This record gives sequence, C-alpha cells and structure tokens, in this order.
Amino acid sequence: MSRPIIARIDTAAFRHNYLLAKSRAPGARAWAVVKANAYGHGLLRCAEAVRDVADGFALLEIGEAVQLRDAGFRQPIVLLEGFFAEDDLHAASEYGISSAVHGEEQLRMLELSELSHPLDVFVKLNTGMNRLGFSPARLPQVLARLRASGKVGQISVMTHFACADGEGIKAQLTSFDDAVHGAVVPVSVANSAALLRYPESHRDWVRPGIMLYGGSPIPDIESAAAIGLKPVMTLSSRIISVQEIGAGDAVGYSATLRADGPMRVGTVACGYADGYPRHANTGTPILVNGRRTRTIGRVSMDMLACDLTGIDAGVGSEVTLWGEGMPADEVAAAAGTVSYELFCALAQRVPVVEF
Ligand SMILES: *Cc1c(COP(=O)(O)O)cnc(C)c1O
Repeated sequence: MSRPIIARIDTAAFRHNYLLAKSRAPGARAWAVVKANAYGHGLLRCAEAVRDVADGFALLEIGEAVQLRDAGFRQPIVLLEGFFAEDDLHAASEYGISSAVHGEEQLRMLELSELSHPLDVFVKLNTGMNRLGFSPARLPQVLARLRASGKVGQISVMTHFACADGEGIKAQLTSFDDAVHGAVVPVSVANSAALLRYPESHRDWVRPGIMLYGGSPIPDIESAAAIGLKPVMTLSSRIISVQEIGAGDAVGYSATLRADGPMRVGTVACGYADGYPRHANTGTPILVNGRRTRTIGRVSMDMLACDLTGIDAGVGSEVTLWGEGMPADEVAAAAGTVSYELFCALAQRVPVVEF
C-alpha cells in the first residue's frame, strides 16, 4: 500500500463556481483565472470542466496559453503580466493570445516587433497598487502609440485592486474611470472580491480566480459556503499511528505542546513537504472520521499530529486536511495565510485524482 495522502479535484464543483461567478456579474464576460496551474488544481482539467461555458481564460505564461490553444480552446486567452520577451510576443501573435501591456519596456518591444497577426492588448493602469501598470495620466499617449504602431488589434484597458477584500476600491476605481473617460474601449477591473462586493466594478470583463476554486476572497466577511461556492480540492490522508500520552508529555519538534492530562495523539501522513503550512499552530482545525478536531504541536516534513482524545478513530482513519467538510479558508486563517497559498503549495509528490 502506498502513502495514503491524496488530493481529489472536483471538476464539477469548479464548473459550478464558474457559473456562480458569472451569475453574480450578469452582463459581463468572465475570464476564468487559471494562472499558477489553476491555483494548483491542474490547468487542463479545470479548463476542460468549463470548455463549453467559459468566456475566456487568464494566466501568466505563454507556454500555458499555447497549451490551451493546442488543446482546442478557442476562447480569448489573456496574459495577465504580458510578454516577458520577444519570443512570447511572437507566440502570442501567432496563437491569437491577448496580452497585458503594463510598462514602457513592453510598449517599446511591441512597437519594434514584426508580428504575423495584430495583437489584442489590455493596457494596464497603475491606480494605486503600485505593482504593474502605466500611470493613469499616460493613457492617452499609450493609446496613441499603440494605434500608431500598426501592431495591435482590439485595445482594452484594465487595472487591479489592492483592497477589494477590505477597505474597498473607491479611490482606485475613480482614478481608473477618470483616466478612461472618453476613450471608447472595453475595460476590466474586478477580481473575485470586487466581483462579489462591488457590482459597479463588473464592466466588460470580470476576472474571478480564487472563487472558482471554492475559496472565499473575503473570508472575514462571508464564507465560501455562504457565497454558494463549493470546494474543488480536497486534501485527505489517514492516521498512521496513535500514541497514548499523559500529563507533561510533549508532542513533536521543539515540544511546543505538553499534555495537561491523558491524551490520544493521532499521527497523520501529511506534512509541509506535501504543502501543508508549517505555520499552522496547535489548534488548526482538521477532520478525522468526519469529526472536527485540532492539530497539535509543530507540523513536520511528512507528518503532523492531531488530537484524538474522545474521538472514535485509530490507525487507518480517514483525515481531511482541507476541502469537503473542512473549509480551506479556516485552515489558512489558523496558519496566518490565505487559501490561495494552500492550494498553490500542493506538492508534486501528492497524487491527484479527478472526480
Ligand atoms: C490573480 C489575478 C486575478 C484573480 O484574483 P482572485 O483574487 O483570485 O480572484 C485577477 N486579476 C489579476 C490581474 C490577477 O493577477
């Protein structure tokens, strides 16, 4: 028998979440954001699940975009960070892949290129995140240069919000609208959080990512279940050892947990080398035999411990780390991170099955 850890990917749930995202932004087209190997879920299996309903796909790497084209996906595909080099630009043009243009270097590369087909571009404006994008005041000049280049087809404009999950988008959206005012171009601004919280941000294209994978983009405001999202990835394993300990006994590296009294400790075949967050402290929720309990002590590379006191479970009992029955958002919160990071960190060594 092999090591019992496994990640199940529920592609029907992915499809459900995509359709839910679309229903929450009626009138807008929705890119399924599938960057980072579909947030760790598998690019092609997720794309396949929405083949007949997806308006388009958004990701980072030209190689992944070409993979989608080669697999027969005809929808618009956009490179969210644009092209990194001349080769990317040629491939994008050849395969009919749209590209963000976020800076002077990209603009110049485009102006100097020889392309087989005109490139559809999304001019990215920096409205306050200060990561990528042209200053909004430069938009007229950028649009003029793109049009004069003769290298581009459809021109759209986009920006990205820093606080759609918190303080809000007002200042950034105002800055964006002031810049775009008068230019008759399609626009795209909303990530998952903005899609759910700010209908005024829907515009022409929305860009849901995390919500497609069943993570809440706003876990402190509304849970994934309350939004109607279904978990897509369920990471499960089994108990491989049970230790009976007494008052004063410690568990795990650095002995961060000492028992107050008699305790049953279950050792789970899952550790940080599988992608489980090492920063998940004692008390992180975990499901054993369908019952909620807590992790105890430090997470090791290949194992972690959980509290089986008063729980009917033993060696071989099924454990859910996150997914169906155990929201990834709760595990992430206990580990001081976000569900995005848990999903993306799923390790190569974990076998994945699709259902
Ligand atoms: C990743 C990303 C998104 C999706 O964000 P979520 O918070 O996962 O919905 C949208 N737009 C851009 C530019 C991104 O990089």
